[in-house]
Amino acid sequence: MKRVAVLGSTGSIGRSTLDVIARHPDRLRLVGIAARSQTDRVAEQIAQFHPALVAVWDEASAQALSSRIGQRVPSGADGLLELATHPDVDVVVVATSGRDALLPLMHAIRARKQIALASKELLVMAGELIMRLAREHGATLIPIDSEHAALFQCLQGIAKDRVSRLVITGSGGPLWGVPEPLRMEASREQVLAHPKWQMGPKITVDSATLMNKGLEIIEARWLFDMPLSRLAVVIHPEAAVHGLIELVDGTILAQLSPCDMRLPIQYALSFPERWESPVAPLALTRLGSLHFIEPDLEQFPCLKLALEAAAAGGSACVALNGANDTAVAAYLEGQAAFGEIPRIIAEVLEQHEPTQHPTLEEILSLDEWARKTAQEIVKRQCLLR
Ligand code: MG
Repeated sequence: MKRVAVLGSTGSIGRSTLDVIARHPDRLRLVGIAARSQTDRVAEQIAQFHPALVAVWDEASAQALSSRIGQRVPSGADGLLELATHPDVDVVVVATSGRDALLPLMHAIRARKQIALASKELLVMAGELIMRLAREHGATLIPIDSEHAALFQCLQGIAKDRVSRLVITGSGGPLWGVPEPLRMEASREQVLAHPKWQMGPKITVDSATLMNKGLEIIEARWLFDMPLSRLAVVIHPEAAVHGLIELVDGTILAQLSPCDMRLPIQYALSFPERWESPVAPLALTRLGSLHFIEPDLEQFPCLKLALEAAAAGGSACVALNGANDTAVAAYLEGQAAFGEIPRIIAEVLEQHEPTQHPTLEEILSLDEWARKTAQEIVKRQCLLR
């Protein structure tokens, strides 16, 4: 029996994780959940799973929930830390959006938990530190991001020096094929209607700008310890193939499955085993043809910015991530147009002097700086409009 704690239980990945856990009561037990503030949903999850450990980030919400359920509910960073390191937890699923889970993740690694990682931003910010720590403590880190889960599966039993290239795919997102002038002014309704995946709003916007693929390249670089020159993105509108590995003998291995996050989540929880799932395999003969297209970096400047930041070094990725988070939030709140997202990020990166191997303290203060700087640019642009 694996005892699981889910950081971010009310988000899209968190809810899918609970669905997987509910389907395997003989193998998985939910012992801890943490959420930002959605206490009604947390209360529903408590009623269904009875986890002994519950944490809510927002202090007032935590207190309200605590008196409602008659159970202690720690808040803020302390609450996440408690779940991530608790002796009754075997596997920590990290599925929060944003940076709040960075320290809890590092403590979970030190406590030698098995980690199922969905929050790619943490690897973008601090991948070098996180993976070094995981190596030092012998912690297993299994990706939930579907492309990385695909690569992780293809790589089983393959010696790393026999791999020549890792390729991640992207569907092209909700604005693929929309002409540039229309794309620049794309509405939230248009952007949030992803054709292939049901996901949270931040990552759906990242899919539309293709920033998501850029973040995923940086994620793959650290996760699989591969140089940028051996990582590639292809656009694959059918979204049947999620990742491919090219081997030195000219073979390509690929992973295909329907777009259902319960598959990579379940594999991260079952690894190294394979369990039954409610997801039927793709009907190959109904798929028809599959297309693989080189992404146009001029059409998708966010992907270009991410690749440039990845090449520039560790600190540039921190600045990129903080600026992107802020720009996307501004777009979702109606403070910035879709086409302004890459401009805001580019301006932040222009003001940043990249350094290699940033420390944790440097990462956290640079993240603050990038968010503040991006926020100032948003405010200035709002005034200009
Ligand atoms: Mg992905």
